[in-house]
Amino acid sequence: MFKRFLGYYQGQMHLFVIDIIAAITVAGIDLAFPQILRTLTGGLFTEGPDAIMGALAYLAVGLVCMYAIRFVCRYFVIFWGHVMGARMESRMREDLFDAYERMSFSYFDHNKSGDLMSRLVSDLFDISEAAHHGPEFILIGIVEVTGSFIILSTINLPLTGVLALIAVLLVVYNAFANYRMRAVYTENRVRISGVNSRLEDSLAGVRVVKSFAAEDVERAKFRRSNDAYLASKTRMYRAMGRYQAAIAVMMGALNTAVVVFGGWLIAQGQMEAIDLATYALYISLFTTPITSILDFTETFQKAIAGFRRFCEVLDTQPDIQDAPGARPIRVTEGAISYRDVHFAYKAADGSPEDGVINGLTLDIRPGETIALVGPSGGGKTTTCSLLPRFYDVDSGSITIDGQDVREVTQRSLREAIGLVQQDVYLFDGTIAENIAYGSPDATIEEIQEAARKANIAEFIETLPEGYETEVGERGSHLSGGQKQRVAIARVFLKNPPILIFDEATSALDNESEQAVQESLAELSHGRTTLVIAHRLSTIKNADEIVTMEGGRVAERGTHEELLARGGTYARYYHMQFADGAE
Ligand code: ADP
Ligand code: MG
Repeated sequence: MFKRFLGYYQGQMHLFVIDIIAAITVAGIDLAFPQILRTLTGGLFTEGPDAIMGALAYLAVGLVCMYAIRFVCRYFVIFWGHVMGARMESRMREDLFDAYERMSFSYFDHNKSGDLMSRLVSDLFDISEAAHHGPEFILIGIVEVTGSFIILSTINLPLTGVLALIAVLLVVYNAFANYRMRAVYTENRVRISGVNSRLEDSLAGVRVVKSFAAEDVERAKFRRSNDAYLASKTRMYRAMGRYQAAIAVMMGALNTAVVVFGGWLIAQGQMEAIDLATYALYISLFTTPITSILDFTETFQKAIAGFRRFCEVLDTQPDIQDAPGARPIRVTEGAISYRDVHFAYKAADGSPEDGVINGLTLDIRPGETIALVGPSGGGKTTTCSLLPRFYDVDSGSITIDGQDVREVTQRSLREAIGLVQQDVYLFDGTIAENIAYGSPDATIEEIQEAARKANIAEFIETLPEGYETEVGERGSHLSGGQKQRVAIARVFLKNPPILIFDEATSALDNESEQAVQESLAELSHGRTTLVIAHRLSTIKNADEIVTMEGGRVAERGTHEELLARGGTYARYYHMQFADGAE
């Protein structure tokens, strides 16, 4: 893990080296300053006024140069140090995003998007903070602490002993306080994410909230989590106040001890007054880095935890991968064949849940349209998800024109299959961009042609901005039927030989259903099509109907045949449609 972390410094080595050199230079200058002052003042007091003036001029020039160098170095540390951290963070973010894109469906079944998002944002920020401040703090700390300790020892050894003793107390207290503060910080993070998810939930469900006039309920829920956050923040600041105050007291004790013990040493003739003054100047150089390194442990721990989670994601192998030597699929006819397929969804730990598909065998002839009918939760959607290999079968096989879907490349397989679902997802952007999603090279003519075939061109042309109209977040500016037809246009443009319609018209009213139905019929012309439908009109359009029960095919035949047989389909038909308008 550590090696991998170092890997992200690659390409940033020059910045890293400059950052470290600059940091050490700053530490060196800070260390040198009291010494210079001591030497000069020590010398000056023994000279006459003229000599003092001359020396002062040197001193002034020297100090200005020193601070100029310090300025440049500080600038480097702050600017380039952060840039280095930001670049590392940016590379990690790309790697993480790539890893997310690689994952298969089951991964997203088990990981909440809020969680995945926070890894991308806050974890990586913590890591980058540690990546550039860490080495800098530690190096500056080492230089300043050892440097000032040596200088202090040369000035007066017994006094330094006292100082070291108090410093040890400081470290011990700090470690203890950090330990206690961690609980408070953790609680604080839980509370803030509570506020965030409340907000997210309320905003996402705003239509439901409004329609039930439940604003007060939402307000009360929000207030509760907001209050809890405030309370935890108060606890955090109380702990911080105590901590800072205690540190201040200990620093006071340190100074008092130095002054009293130092005064006593002076009285004993074991130390000069000027040495005590210099000594006092070094104390903060000795103690500040200690406290700041200890403070930094918090960030450091967060970063380690964050980086561990980061590596976990990067090391997760997607459970669907191309077989070694997989070739692109060649769809000549479009014949689909399920052979004794068994499948169960897996729990987060990988153990199988109850079987959803239990020995499904189904052949679909080239160009045929098959309607899948069955109870809700009966495994129809699952059957369709197995074809583009969103999940792999547990046993049995699925072939397209004799090629097992596990033997061909995922990319070619998914290019060969067009999917139209009940919930259409449109991406933020224009209508044209959404139609061309998946076919980025499409010309505007091709896009218009696809829209025409999907029965949506007329509507688009009535819009003031036509194809350049923004669809809004998730397509919120379009109606359900319009969104569905944009999705169909998308598939027209992709032009796959095999189609899956999963309740594509279920969410639509009768009128838009008819328009969508027409474009679907046009789309499925000459392509092998699997339709999951609740509407009789869709089912009747199919060449054959397959009913599913218990994850298996129960019956197969035309509408008339199945009705005559009086089995599952007939029962289903009478329940759903017998007294309907159809
Ligand atoms: P249908 O489309 O016929 O209504 P599905 O194929 O969607 O049925 O679901 C079949 C069964 O599998 C249901 O019991 C459902 O709860 C379960 N299921 C569907 N998707 C998942 C999933 N991603 N993870 C776990 N179980 C699932
Ligand atoms: Mg379904």
